[in-house]
Amino acid sequence: MKFQLALLLLWLYLLACIAPSFAQTCVDADLVIRNGHIITMDTGLKNATGMAVRDGKIVALEEDNELASCASPRTKISDLHNRTVLPGLIDVHTHAMEWAKGILRGQIDAAYPNVRAIDDIVREIASRANSLQRGQWIVGAGWDDSKLTEHRYIRRQDLDPASPHNPVYLDHVSGHLAAVNSAALELAGIDRRTPDPQGGVIERDATGEPTGILKDTAMSLVSSQLPKDPEDINIRAAKLASEKAAEVGLTTIHDIFLSPDEIRGYQDAYQRGWLKIRVQMSPQIASVADAERLAQMGVHTGFGDDFLKFGAAKMFADGGMGARTIAIYPPGVTGEPDNLGVLRWKPEDMQKAHLTAAAAGWQLETHAIGDRAIDEVLDSYAAVMDKLGLKDARFRIVHAGISTPTIQKRMQAQHIVVDGNPPFVYWIGSWFLKYGPERVRWSYPAKSYIDNGVIEAAGSDVPVTPISPWWGIWAAVVRQDLQSGQVLAPEERITVDQALTLYTKNGAYAGLEEDKKGTLSPGRLADFIVVDRDPLMIPVDELKDIKVLTTYVGGKQIWP
Ligand SMILES: [Zn+2]
Repeated sequence: MKFQLALLLLWLYLLACIAPSFAQTCVDADLVIRNGHIITMDTGLKNATGMAVRDGKIVALEEDNELASCASPRTKISDLHNRTVLPGLIDVHTHAMEWAKGILRGQIDAAYPNVRAIDDIVREIASRANSLQRGQWIVGAGWDDSKLTEHRYIRRQDLDPASPHNPVYLDHVSGHLAAVNSAALELAGIDRRTPDPQGGVIERDATGEPTGILKDTAMSLVSSQLPKDPEDINIRAAKLASEKAAEVGLTTIHDIFLSPDEIRGYQDAYQRGWLKIRVQMSPQIASVADAERLAQMGVHTGFGDDFLKFGAAKMFADGGMGARTIAIYPPGVTGEPDNLGVLRWKPEDMQKAHLTAAAAGWQLETHAIGDRAIDEVLDSYAAVMDKLGLKDARFRIVHAGISTPTIQKRMQAQHIVVDGNPPFVYWIGSWFLKYGPERVRWSYPAKSYIDNGVIEAAGSDVPVTPISPWWGIWAAVVRQDLQSGQVLAPEERITVDQALTLYTKNGAYAGLEEDKKGTLSPGRLADFIVVDRDPLMIPVDELKDIKVLTTYVGGKQIWP
């Protein structure tokens, strides 16, 4: 009896200790939201109606009546009228600055649905050529042969009549190939005698003449000739990218493969107070020398603050599906039996670059779409982890397009995080089909990652697909291809809750920030969004139409 009494007293004492500490922390809040339908995405927490924020962080998450102690006369109170609240969404793979620069440059938007046939783009080029002086560039981006009525690449013969005297450069939506006209080839000095550069292809016709299609590293033969941007373009692009991201509910993006000027652009925008959302910047490593330079700078992943910091260091292992340059095991692409894609690195150089960056404290992320490329990266990661004695380095594989069960087991064993791309199934699912049904089955899986214990985060890869994460959340649930209407690998469909997890909790995990964001709970950053409907209650097809009403970063309303 005595012992039980002692236990009861101890329990009462502990309760008394906890109660005042809650009252103490939740006073004089900057913001209290009430009457909301708050989905925390934290499995240990029940959903709440009210939330209090102080100094940019969540201090309490309760039913409204329990938040009374939080408010003071200066506290801003916001009544949500039962609207749905979610954690701010996280996109771990964007080229947001590059995309924003395209908008600022006034590039031709050659993406579907703006361009549906080669004629559409030819007409636009002809009208621009008419208003330009001889020799001035015409630049566009976003075209996708699989969405053109002709279902083929745009070649110089298509472009030359519309623009005989102005060089034309048109980026494919994949970012892995470009179409140029004869004037551009001539400017870059490319003719039938020009050899293919390492890691790239100059496409040639039956007679050996370049067709105007340049793949992977061959693109820079022409893109290096493009006119210089105005000096302030990067800082303006950082601002624009962050505004566009806030509008669709993203509160953190990872911007990948940034050049030094682009990194400076983000930094300057942040210093001027122009950056609306949080950004992880990923510098590029295109050679062993790049890795050595990065290591010598003395900074590493995580340097910066909660708003702007360095993320992972990014490398490319292979090419893209749209350009048919992903590195696969035999058999080759349908109709091109010998095409097993390209590997950009010699394995020993990749390992050297990985080791150099990781030893200097960089998280690694490597683009690998084909199964052969993924295996090469996994081999290299394993060697690096072994050499450095790392157990859970949380190295990332970007895309992991063809991810077989064998590969997934390796990923699980090495604690690899996948930067997956749920919206690809809808927007570019037709590219998967060229790789045959065997590979379609394991293209951009999601359900089997969950089953096999592999953590997947999500990325739009904007401008490859639109920046809105709602496309990806919807596509992860339905997996329908835009072109054919087919459901691709229906076994890999996941629930709405699981899809939201990719864009919240798992995004935070990929960015080494799971103790700061990804769920709404006391102590976390107050990054959250109010949306016009509850994603867990609406018909699945409405997911892509969800509108973000307000976006908060660190408890401050930043949109609208
Ligand atoms: Zn990308």
